[in-house]
Amino acid sequence: MIWSSKKEVPVVIIGGGLAGLVSALHLALKGVEVLLIEKNSYPLHKVCGEYISNEVLPYLNSLGIDPLKMGAVAISKFVLTTPSNKLLKTKLPLGGFGMSRYLLDHTLAKKVQNAGVNMVQDVVIDVEYQNNKFLVKTKNNGHLTANIVLGAYGKRSNLDVKFNRPFIKNKSPYLAVKAHYTGSFPADVVAIHNFEGGYCGVSRVEDNKINICYITNYKTFQEFKSIPDFEAQVVFKNEALKKLFKTSKLAFEKPLSISQISFDIKKPVENHILMCGDTAGMIHPLCGNGMGMAIHSAKLVSELVIPYLNGEIKSRADLEQQYSQAWNSNFLKRVKTGKLLAELYNNNSLSQIVMGTLKFFPKILTKIIKRTHGKPLKAVIV
Ligand SMILES: Cc1cc2nc3c(=O)[nH]c(=O)nc-3n(C[C@H](O)[C@H](O)[C@H](O)COP(=O)(O)OP(=O)(O)OC[C@H]3O[C@@H](n4cnc5c(N)ncnc54)[C@H](O)[C@@H]3O)c2cc1C
Repeated sequence: MIWSSKKEVPVVIIGGGLAGLVSALHLALKGVEVLLIEKNSYPLHKVCGEYISNEVLPYLNSLGIDPLKMGAVAISKFVLTTPSNKLLKTKLPLGGFGMSRYLLDHTLAKKVQNAGVNMVQDVVIDVEYQNNKFLVKTKNNGHLTANIVLGAYGKRSNLDVKFNRPFIKNKSPYLAVKAHYTGSFPADVVAIHNFEGGYCGVSRVEDNKINICYITNYKTFQEFKSIPDFEAQVVFKNEALKKLFKTSKLAFEKPLSISQISFDIKKPVENHILMCGDTAGMIHPLCGNGMGMAIHSAKLVSELVIPYLNGEIKSRADLEQQYSQAWNSNFLKRVKTGKLLAELYNNNSLSQIVMGTLKFFPKILTKIIKRTHGKPLKAVIV
């Protein structure tokens, strides 16, 4: 044990994914002392579609991160197919880039460390709030006290059970599978291929790899013995996916999978902890914008924590109220639209009708994409 509750730091960040790393970097570049606690080590592959909206590019650049110089692939086109093999194509209003979480999180972690953030590998097991301070309890390093705690621990964690968050009590029917492949796929396209009970996102990332990541409901999946069996019987009914899988070679030892993915609405402030990224709310991956939201929410929270620590925001209640308001006005509509789209996509006959309509009115598709994304973030950090 290396800490005691007498050790006090201004800001503790729980979780070193995109939301945690970006807020740590932002705060550190502005001179705030930060301690970041992440349970895993870097680099690490994560189950993710790995398509990132350009809305966060100016902000990332201002933090000293230039994904395109690091090998990320610029993406400007969108392709959508249905289980009955109807196809739609459109230009993405804003575009984005493809980059693996393996590379992006690792690069950010190195930047965070170089910016002077104290990064500790440990698991946070509880956070207690008393007398306007937090007592952060960890598995290996003991307890410490913090003025501000940012919860950036992802979509589902032991801490959600501790904090008794309502969504954790509901069963989540989704699971996801992802791997990198070598093969042929256009560099400037992100594709969403729908199959019965799920959909699959495809785009290129660095090093000529193709990221293939699908999400499906547990009910459809459990009827099959294994991932290959499920793919052969269900996923490959979509001709585009069948061709892609048959002509690509797995670049991982085996695909990664996760389950219990929830899209329930959460609160951006809980137990006085300012929640960031998926911990505050998760948009359906169909919208391809969870990473953008994680990075954007890191910016929002950092821009409020700094004036709070300087005394410009007078009370914790004001800080919490301003952050909740900022989070809801930026993201709540997107999360709700994503939920609605996912429900529609899960309904085969309804999605056929919608695809038919979109074929004649492609501008509606552009409008839907815009509704689940934001405008480019104006961000100059220094
Ligand atoms: C199938 C799927 C496909 C997706 N595709 C896309 C896409 O194409 N584009 C897009 O923009 N978004 C996509 N997303 C969403 C995106 O992956 C998330 O929104 C994003 O990862 C959120 O980042 P985060 O920092 O909030 O969480 P994470 O990246 O999950 O980071 C949380 C971190 O907290 C750590 N942690 C957890 N508990 C503790 C603890 N108790 N103590 C210490 N550390 C802890 C974890 O180890 C983890 O590193 C997809 C999601 C899924 C599930």
